[in-house]
Amino acid sequence: MNAVVPPNAVTTQKAQAMPNQIHDLARNTDHVVIVGGGLAGLFCALKLAPRPVTVISAAPLGHGASTAWAQGGIAAAVAEGDSAEAHAADTVAVGAGLVDATVALGIAREAGARIHDLLRYGVPFDRDLQGRLAVGREAAHSARRIVHVRGDMAGRAIISALTEAVRATPSIRLIEGYAAEALLTDEGAIGGLQLRQVDDAAGNPVTVPARAVVLATRGIGHLYAATTNPAEASGSGLAIAARAGAVIADPGFVQFHPTAIMVGRDPAPLATEALRGEGAILINGSGERFMPARHRLAELAPRDIVARGVFAEVAAGRGAFLDAREALGARFAEKFPTVFASCIAGIDPARQPIPVAPAAHYHMGGIAVDVHGRSSLKGLWAGGEVSCTGAHGANRPASNSLLEAVVYAARIAEDIQGCDIAAPARLKATDIAPQNAAMSALAEARLRAMMTSHVGVIRDGDGLTEAVRSFAALEQASKNIALRNMATTALLVAASAWSRRA
Ligand SMILES: Cc1cc2nc3c(=O)[nH]c(=O)nc-3n(C[C@H](O)[C@H](O)[C@H](O)COP(=O)(O)OP(=O)(O)OC[C@H]3O[C@@H](n4cnc5c(N)ncnc54)[C@H](O)[C@@H]3O)c2cc1C
Repeated sequence: MNAVVPPNAVTTQKAQAMPNQIHDLARNTDHVVIVGGGLAGLFCALKLAPRPVTVISAAPLGHGASTAWAQGGIAAAVAEGDSAEAHAADTVAVGAGLVDATVALGIAREAGARIHDLLRYGVPFDRDLQGRLAVGREAAHSARRIVHVRGDMAGRAIISALTEAVRATPSIRLIEGYAAEALLTDEGAIGGLQLRQVDDAAGNPVTVPARAVVLATRGIGHLYAATTNPAEASGSGLAIAARAGAVIADPGFVQFHPTAIMVGRDPAPLATEALRGEGAILINGSGERFMPARHRLAELAPRDIVARGVFAEVAAGRGAFLDAREALGARFAEKFPTVFASCIAGIDPARQPIPVAPAAHYHMGGIAVDVHGRSSLKGLWAGGEVSCTGAHGANRPASNSLLEAVVYAARIAEDIQGCDIAAPARLKATDIAPQNAAMSALAEARLRAMMTSHVGVIRDGDGLTEAVRSFAALEQASKNIALRNMATTALLVAASAWSRRA
């Protein structure tokens, strides 16, 4: 059956070819199905080769994945004098007492091996004059340990190298432009999943039998009106896993990036932490530096503390700005080309402070997984930001998320290789109605606004109660499955935050 479909046949120019390939996929029974075309999904697919896998990505590869937007890099204790133990200790210190220290150490120890895998797949990490990996400093790391690519281009370079490697791997079949909207279960285990073509809400769904599904769909940032995340980060993976019965851990733990650039764009572009690592400072509208009074590490304090500092200045009407004039000045464009390009709308960061505010950036909570990336549901693995491994607690230091994604993607592949995966049963009719209404832009905008105002940087009991009621009502009422999934995840986040209120 597989011979009918040429591997990698589905590309962005897929229009005519897609129906047959999708029909074939619906009858396919021997593949592992990976949902997500970011670092976690693509790396897992490559590690599974030559075992046949199907990768489903809502957006064409290279688009819609946060990985491509990562500006800092990957944390790895590869420099002389640094150690996995020191890296793990920094991770534990940032996580508000909620990091699993064994998990953090395990991840830190595997960092070097995974960086070398990425080098082999063609990621051109920067090197110093001696040819060693060049490492930079970022907030909450006690050593220079961030490997990067041409300053702030790490994410783009990683996705481009992995995309090329995936497209050249015959065992990987790529389906782009379809989103997973439900997981199907069979006697308490994964039996398959339901897909729908993106932007065709009225079209028929496709059911795919599969006994092994890896969710690598990323986080929830797009549930917020102010976010740095792409639209695909709408929490769909979390919703479909929860609905299928998987245990979800700490959904209320959301990280807000303190320095999203306020130039009226959705999503908001990001001024990477590495700028502060290079000496850029935070000032308010009166030119006063406000972070030294809040933390001994000032601008390099953990993200939650910097985010609250920035939020307080914005809420008080003083405004907040990232000032790189002295630290970088004329070197700005060369050292941080991505940030420079984001500022183009009227700001010259070499000569002017950049207006900033906190925005939803990273989800520490997610599908609860063990050290192999297995969820509580038989046949379901989760990797990357959609998962919760215990490595981040209530907060995470910069550049630990790409590391966690790549480490767990490799572990999941190894675990699946060792599993005897039975042929899928015939799928029964699902509880998901095939009819699907159009997405209501107004309802989506309302949900996102309420997440920012009621479930944002500062939360209180009354606001969370209102949010829980509103999301529960939307979840019940929505006739559009994508919106219903957004409401489910928003409800999980708000209810979890409510249950932790002081
Ligand atoms: C602006 C920005 C900068 C960042 N900088 C850094 C950094 O420097 N260092 C660091 O460690 N981390 C950084 N992060 C965080 C990091 O990029 C992410 O945590 C990480 O890339 C997540 O990888 P992933 O594979 O889980 O998800 P992604 O790379 O986002 O990939 C998710 C994939 O899933 C697909 N998808 C989503 N839902 C569905 C669905 N229902 N069906 C089918 N496909 C679906 C998407 O199309 C996409 O292909 C940054 C994040 C942002 C937004």
